[in-house]
Amino acid sequence: AKGAGRNRFSYFTPALQVAALNRMRLTNDLRGALKGNQLKLYFQPIVHLQSGKVHKAEALIRWEHPQRGMVSPLEFIPLAEASGLIVDIGEWVFRESAQWVKRWRQEVHPNFQVSLNQSPLEFQRERGSYAEWLAHLQQIGVPGESIVVEITEGLLLDASANVTDKLLQLRDAGIQVALDDFGTGYSSLSYLKKFDIDYLKIDRSFTRNLAPDSSDMALSDAIIVMAHKLGLSVIAEGVETTEQRDLLAGAGCDYGQGYLFARPLPATDFDALLRQQSSV
Ligand code: C2E
Ligand code: CA
Ligand code: CA
Ligand code: CA
Repeated sequence: AKGAGRNRFSYFTPALQVAALNRMRLTNDLRGALKGNQLKLYFQPIVHLQSGKVHKAEALIRWEHPQRGMVSPLEFIPLAEASGLIVDIGEWVFRESAQWVKRWRQEVHPNFQVSLNQSPLEFQRERGSYAEWLAHLQQIGVPGESIVVEITEGLLLDASANVTDKLLQLRDAGIQVALDDFGTGYSSLSYLKKFDIDYLKIDRSFTRNLAPDSSDMALSDAIIVMAHKLGLSVIAEGVETTEQRDLLAGAGCDYGQGYLFARPLPATDFDALLRQQSSV
């Protein structure tokens, strides 16, 4: 009878309630995922366009759900934010990244950097500080500058005292800052002057339509020139073709990231790729 009741319930539940239930279940599962080793960290190379070398990588989280298979971060990061789990997940991403970057600085390249994403709620959290991150890095023996934190423009737009404070914490720790998805929001280069940002990541919606004499080419050109004048390095996201790579390199873009070079790879596979490259 209990089973029948359940069936009747789900049969008559409107789609919105089904979606809400689904989110609740997934959020519950996410709580267990951290402890159950279901979260995996993948790395995607960031390639220096002039030399073709990989001296940086972006850490991207993956969730291998035991029943549902791979769940996209686009689906579970919002749930992690809504439930507050994002803070614990972010700490885990940081600690994993720190271990790997230590190894890659020792064995692959002395200035290797790992870039990690901080969603707005995560960045503005009350708990913890980036000084604690630096303490951890010092404890394992790598400098603050081995980590880059990627934030989005929206944060700077309504820059509260808290946001300014967090940016100062990062700078004090020597941790570098990248502005992610640049060009998709209310981009203003005045933020780049006001805040101490190290890298600008051109969103892949620009890279996608790059062609000689296109408006996206003109915009990319202008972004690169202005970023350089302000002392920032530029990373183009979503590089999928050699033509895009060549146009970006020609425009003076410093780094490229995208499927042309490699998809995000499990840490051990990325490690193998790095060693292959450095032995050539
Ligand atoms: P993002 O920070 O903009 O990351 C880049 C996304 O573009 C990644 O998707 C990556 O796999 C994808 N990508 C890379 N190269 C190409 C390409 O050439 N073509 C195309 N079409 N896509 C490419 P992914 O891994 O699914 O991550 C989605 C978003 O989830 C990320 O966007 C980021 O906002 C968020 N995310 C991922 N990992 C974390 C994390 O550890 N913490 C937080 N807070 N957010 C994360
Ligand atoms: Ca990113
Ligand atoms: Ca991005
Ligand atoms: Ca700077």
